Amino acid sequence: MSNVIDGKRISQEMLREIEQEVKSYSDVGIPGLAVVQVGGREDSNIYIKKKQQACMDTGMSSTIHNLDIDTNDKDVCELIERLNDDSAVNGILVQLPLPSHLNDEKILSKISYLKDVDGFHSRNMGDLAMDGRTPSFAPCTPSGCIELLRRHNIEMMGKHAVVVGKSNIVGLPMALLLMKEMATVTVCHIETKDIRQHLIMADIVVSACGQAQMIKREWLKEGVVVIDVGINSIPDATKKRGYRLVGDVDFENVKEIARAITPVPGGVGPMTVTMLLRNTLEGFKRQNGL
Ligand code: NDP
Repeated sequence: MSNVIDGKRISQEMLREIEQEVKSYSDVGIPGLAVVQVGGREDSNIYIKKKQQACMDTGMSSTIHNLDIDTNDKDVCELIERLNDDSAVNGILVQLPLPSHLNDEKILSKISYLKDVDGFHSRNMGDLAMDGRTPSFAPCTPSGCIELLRRHNIEMMGKHAVVVGKSNIVGLPMALLLMKEMATVTVCHIETKDIRQHLIMADIVVSACGQAQMIKREWLKEGVVVIDVGINSIPDATKKRGYRLVGDVDFENVKEIARAITPVPGGVGPMTVTMLLRNTLEGFKRQNGL
């Protein structure tokens, strides 16, 4: 069996499972996702289209609320309040980044934590951090990483996991999720002295630092499991567009010593939207007592 973790295949498999489950609840209703977008950033449009397509493919409904670029905090919050009260909406997501005049924290905390399918609400983050509590939703990218590990039968309990990066959307919740799985977790960041000394000890490495091919084969031990979240573009004259995407890890060389490793693209990337749909389905089930 190849040691390359095929995120595309696993995410397709999960989407089929979700589609089946959605079908099985057709007598109750259709799970619904509401996306709030402010302004029409080109990159955000692409991500939103992917989410819409995945909803369509699995039989869920999605509604995009596209607000004008100069909408203020109050108007965004009022829309979120309406969506919180709408029983046809099971999950709400605010597409980030928001224009700089808006207050992300205020807006994200308006979303009911019971519909917070991105898992960024401080109540959900708090529950993720606290022992014995379960958040309504965990952030999609890191929970996609956990799903990849589970579906590859990678034991996490008692293992030493090193997470590179501590952002609110990836690194921090990743570390918390690994702790919930009973791994021993080290978190490295920009101020970490001698990152190699930590990485060489790792049974599992999850990298989300956005530094192209930074992590080298010599930095890791034989048999390590590597989950590479990073998406970085580097110049490549052989490509029509002049660049290609790589992760934070030197994939070709690390692959030779890794027990399992995700490629970029085709590893963690496809899992993020899939986990969003799974969270929305979970919201639907919970809100309908299923
Ligand atoms: P951020 O820039 O918000 O966070 C990067 C983190 O990495 C920070 O905690 C930073 O430390 C740390 N860091 C930066 N440089 C270094 C370094 N040289 N050594 C150690 N730590 C470092 O990024 P995100 O968390 O949003 O994203 C991380 C990467 O993952 C990006 O490449 C992004 O494109 C990708 N991504 C992929 C997704 C997917 O679906 N596959 C989804 C989301 C992100 P400090 O906090 O101290 O500054």
